[in-house]
Amino acid sequence: MLTKIIFVTIDCLAVFALYFTAMATDRIQRIYARWLKWTLFAGIVAIYANILIAFSFSNRFAHFAYSIYFASIDWILYFLVGFCLAYTEHESALQILYIPAACVMAVDSVSLLLNPFFEHEFYVFATRDHMGTVFYQTRPFGPYYAHLAIDYFAIVIAFVFIIYRILKSYSFYRIKYVIILSVLLIVVVLNIAYMMFELPLDSSVIFYALAGTLINFSIQKLVPQNLMNSSIGRAVDDMNEGLILFDISDNCIYANEFSKKRFGIEPGNYDLKCEPASSVIAELNRKGLDIGEESYTHTVKEDDAVSVRHYRIKYNQLKDSKERLIGSYFLVEDTTDQVHYLEEIKSARDLANEANMAKSTFLASMSHEIRTPLNSVLGMNEMILRSTDDPALREYAENIKLSGDMLLGLINDVLDFSKIEAGRMDITPVEYNPHDLLRDCYNYFEQMAESKDLYIDVTCDETIPSRLSGDEKLIRQIMNNLISNAVKYTREGGVKVSLSDEGVSGEVRDMVITVADTGIGIDKEDISCLFDAFRRINEKENATIQGTGLGLAITKELVTLMHGTISVESTPGKGSVFTIILPQKVVDAAPIGEFVKHITPGENTYKESFHAPEARILIVDDARLNLKVAQALLRNTMIQCDTAGGGNQAIEMCRDTRYDLILLDHRMPEPDGIQTFHVISKEGVNTDTPIIMLTANVVSGAEEEYRRIGFADYLSKPIRGEDLEAALLKYLPPEKIIHT
Ligand code: ADP
Repeated sequence: MLTKIIFVTIDCLAVFALYFTAMATDRIQRIYARWLKWTLFAGIVAIYANILIAFSFSNRFAHFAYSIYFASIDWILYFLVGFCLAYTEHESALQILYIPAACVMAVDSVSLLLNPFFEHEFYVFATRDHMGTVFYQTRPFGPYYAHLAIDYFAIVIAFVFIIYRILKSYSFYRIKYVIILSVLLIVVVLNIAYMMFELPLDSSVIFYALAGTLINFSIQKLVPQNLMNSSIGRAVDDMNEGLILFDISDNCIYANEFSKKRFGIEPGNYDLKCEPASSVIAELNRKGLDIGEESYTHTVKEDDAVSVRHYRIKYNQLKDSKERLIGSYFLVEDTTDQVHYLEEIKSARDLANEANMAKSTFLASMSHEIRTPLNSVLGMNEMILRSTDDPALREYAENIKLSGDMLLGLINDVLDFSKIEAGRMDITPVEYNPHDLLRDCYNYFEQMAESKDLYIDVTCDETIPSRLSGDEKLIRQIMNNLISNAVKYTREGGVKVSLSDEGVSGEVRDMVITVADTGIGIDKEDISCLFDAFRRINEKENATIQGTGLGLAITKELVTLMHGTISVESTPGKGSVFTIILPQKVVDAAPIGEFVKHITPGENTYKESFHAPEARILIVDDARLNLKVAQALLRNTMIQCDTAGGGNQAIEMCRDTRYDLILLDHRMPEPDGIQTFHVISKEGVNTDTPIIMLTANVVSGAEEEYRRIGFADYLSKPIRGEDLEAALLKYLPPEKIIHT
């Protein structure tokens, strides 16, 4: 009796194990999980039947219990084979086999369940053990063996599929199939043992339960873990980067294929004292770091050839979720291609810099060569304008001035563009009166518009601030570009220029400048490339109109530099409206009032701003005409102007005569302006005299360079009378100046 109780207790435990395992399979979203679940449920039925057998009180009862038991064991097998096929990914075989197999199983089960009535497969007999407890046992015969043959046939099919899968799989996948195969073998062996030794009670079903649990554990935990480890190992080996792992004693525990190949690392024989780890750690320590990233260059000698490879190596610590140190690792990235690429870019950049230097030199020379004669032309012309009131002569001179200014504009455009390209265009804010700005623009273009029979209309919002701060020179340049375009590209009608603000008060106001014309307009598709450098639209039609295609490109860059925006609206044949919004600092918010166009065209309006008969200055230039221009421009100020035609003469003159100011040209035959500057500022009586560079060299960076050398100021040729007077006013001793 005790045997039976132990036996039944184990059976009950097995039922629990099977039940929970079966329920756990629900978590697996795969078809094989369903087959496993049914296998386990069939196992539960078998164990219940087994318990009934143990407690059978009559031969007939035991007979029924055995029928159920044998039938359920058949279904265990059926589902197990199904599981094997699904698990080994033979779903197609499963689809073909499972219905005919289920039919065979159904016939088989019915035959077994009818056995108590016909005893055609096995009979049941009672035995007693040495303690007198009654057991019921079976002895098969006849058709039972056919039923057994079907079972073993199914098992053989399962074996074949599993073995096939084992042979076909990657080594690290084999384990999951080997486990299933082993479990199946245990089931078969137990079954055969039960039959051969005619055991009083069939305990094999308990092992089935354990087998099911083992399968479940293996597919849910063991196999995935193994697979994960092996997969990560494989993936890391396949990586095109190196991974080297260390334990907390700094011994290498793993190096992937990349690290082994590149650095010959053998995990057992490698630690932090070996290369490249030691170099990286030493470099990090030098910087006072424990972890970080370093560059590393590795030279390999192969068959007399030396190859150099560059790496970026990252060293870091490995910690668990509770921040406890587990070890450390190196991540190695091959940066050889990147380094080569950077070297190529560097040499390309050097070449480009050289070309740029050549361009700058060319621009400097070109600008100098054109500006020098232009200086004479415009200077002499200015003298005509100042000294005559003859209308015909004045008209000629005005025309010379207009063309000269245009030529100067072209040179300035080219130079400005190169300045912007080199990032050397700076914003220099000054205080200004917006009306003066508008008035100057108006005066500048009025004649040009008139000559084309165009009107030019300027309006200014009376409420805008009376003084603003911003780069007036650049705003003037922007407006000049837009107004000159408006006049150039308009045949009839005219141009309207307006200035207003966005109406928002504050320290910085958005000033809105619009230049509208009734000109030829711009096609919609051309608007997108309007601001591209050297791009002229309708070049054929506009061939007679002067232009370089640089004006708008420069305008756009300047507006952006001043944190503003530019937009354009245009209707071909009707005209265009350019709108610029520029943030400007408010200096005096008092409303500016009515705009008055102070113009007195055709009259001699020049009036010198001061007199300084006591002051004595020296003008140095190798171009005789330029000396004359400067002298003439200063005639009305009554300043005493000495001139020198070269550096040596200037040095000589500076030995004994003390000057209040020196205007010095740069490009002269030896000694040039800079050499002369150095001598004058060291010897003689003019060591502290302000020296102003007066040059045609206006290439980007020139002004900064002159100031760095020690020149007090910088004036560019062609020189404007007002600019020259303003500079003198700034540097001449105040006691010698008489304001007019
Ligand atoms: P350009 O020196 O040729 O005038 P810009 O950069 O100033 O160069 O202008 C580029 C092109 O844009 C011009 O060639 C012209 O075709 C077109 N354009 C500029 N302003 C106007 C305008 N107000 N009306 C019509 N077309 C214009």
